[in-house]
Amino acid sequence: MKSLINILSNKCPHCKKGHVFKTSIFNPFSIGKMDQNCSHCGFTYEKEPGFFFGAMYVSYALIVAESVAAFVILRLLLNLNWFISFGGIVALSLFLFAVNFKLSRVIWIYIFHSEKYKKNS
Ligand SMILES: [Zn+2]
Repeated sequence: MKSLINILSNKCPHCKKGHVFKTSIFNPFSIGKMDQNCSHCGFTYEKEPGFFFGAMYVSYALIVAESVAAFVILRLLLNLNWFISFGGIVALSLFLFAVNFKLSRVIWIYIFHSEKYKKNS
């Protein structure tokens, strides 16, 4: 639960004080800039070249979950027709692109930081 709060608040997985992205993770209008190292402890976010390609899988899972939630709300609860529901899902996906991009990278960093931590302890 604490990791989830740290992920959502864009904290460094190592020191929990620095920020991964300089802008808020929930700002949908800016992809933002990401430092290579934590500004507080110097932890390297990108383990190897191409490390963040795997974050695309996390981003895919996020967008599927958001689309299913939007479908349930638009089609089943609000009882809108298929065309408007599909348009709403596409609009939501485009609107949340930057949020999913940043959130998937932070989640990806936390996944591999946790595995490293387990091996060392
Ligand atoms: Zn740090």
